[in-house]
Amino acid sequence: MTQQDATSRLLTASVPRYTSYPPANHFSDSVGADDSARWIAAVPEDTAVSIYLHIPFCRRLCHFCACRTQGTASDRPLDAYVGRLETEIERVTRLIGRRQPVSAVHFGGGTPTILRPDHFARIDAALRGAFAIGPDTEMSVEVDPTEIDEDRLDALASMGLTRASIGVQDFDEAVQRAIGRMQSVEETTRAVAALRDRGARSVNVDLIYGLPHQTTTTLRETIDAVTAFAPDRAAIYGYAHVPRMARRQQLIPQDSLPGPAERLTLFDTAQRLLAWAGYVPVGIDHFARPEDDLARAAQEGRLFRNFQGYTTDAAPVLLGFGASALSRFPQGHAQNAAASGAWAKAVDEGRLATARGWALDPEDRARAEIIERIMCDFAVDLPAVAAGHGLRLADFSAELSRIAAHLGDEVDIDAGRLRLTARDGRFARLLAAEFDAFLSDESGRYSRAV
Ligand code: SF4
Repeated sequence: MTQQDATSRLLTASVPRYTSYPPANHFSDSVGADDSARWIAAVPEDTAVSIYLHIPFCRRLCHFCACRTQGTASDRPLDAYVGRLETEIERVTRLIGRRQPVSAVHFGGGTPTILRPDHFARIDAALRGAFAIGPDTEMSVEVDPTEIDEDRLDALASMGLTRASIGVQDFDEAVQRAIGRMQSVEETTRAVAALRDRGARSVNVDLIYGLPHQTTTTLRETIDAVTAFAPDRAAIYGYAHVPRMARRQQLIPQDSLPGPAERLTLFDTAQRLLAWAGYVPVGIDHFARPEDDLARAAQEGRLFRNFQGYTTDAAPVLLGFGASALSRFPQGHAQNAAASGAWAKAVDEGRLATARGWALDPEDRARAEIIERIMCDFAVDLPAVAAGHGLRLADFSAELSRIAAHLGDEVDIDAGRLRLTARDGRFARLLAAEFDAFLSDESGRYSRAV
């Protein structure tokens, strides 16, 4: 395998981002409400859990976004949604049977900051009544700077906000027009300062490369503006253009998009600029100030990957609330009904809203751990992980042969211990994919590896 072969594969391959194993598109209705009820009831007593609340509403619907979101001009659907979240929280905690300690609460969406201050207060009261949330619990919220005001900022502060994440994508006006998301440097800078004033000790910014009309110049200007307000973390994701699945993306003409080689140049540019600004790389697409928890965890081999991306949160149980929310248990994954209507019906009928998932067997667990280590450390001790799950190195001999054939010099193999030779992890998804037993017939359904 020559360097060129591996690079061509990198430019053309479509592979999962591995925020779970198996990836969520392999979940099936073999898992339902009865399974999640059993898994919830079995949450170990002395273990802190992580909580995810999904708010699937937005005031604007950006053309590039593949999230399942619902546009709303009125607050009426929000009032009803928050009421059902309260019910769902109460139902799940009744199954647990005690006030379980919580390591982290994350509000994602959609646009969580579309909620009014009284909505946040109600959800906070429901959570604190049902769970043991203390001063050490991380409280993070995805914030839209165009959808935040003083009252909402105060509501986040009252909840004990510790982290915030802000979507920027690209500040260039032509790019923003093409993706239907106008957001100025000034309002973003103001939002970051206000969040810090209200207690957010870590602010993350999300950027995207591969957007329509994006060039290394627009990206450089964006990163210059971002580093000027000095977020603690930045993530740069590749835009995945899948208009057949995400219909809003049909508004983005294919010929306005950078090609595979230009995407790689854009990513390289972003990496270099963030490194010059003092950020250290974390995993495949995150960057953090050296003193940030995420950078320290990466250095110390304490990085984890869950549905939200890279995290320092080691909680073995993630409880997801809201439409389409994902939960993770030692026994498997469970996902709530994706459509708000189906989720609402389940909540109103007194049921758990689990619609699909995946029950893990010992081999799935081994593959999940191998893939998580590759995505976090760019290395994995295959014999050690295999032994931990009652398997042997020989059980992965087909994978080792494929890795030698597909990735050649990009991977060092020493007695079953694998390590990517490049430090930036650009081949991590391809290496992880070699251990994905679900992948064989799925090419084209995932985003590009770069
Ligand atoms: S990018 Fe954010 S604001 Fe835009 S549609 Fe997606 S979730 Fe909504």
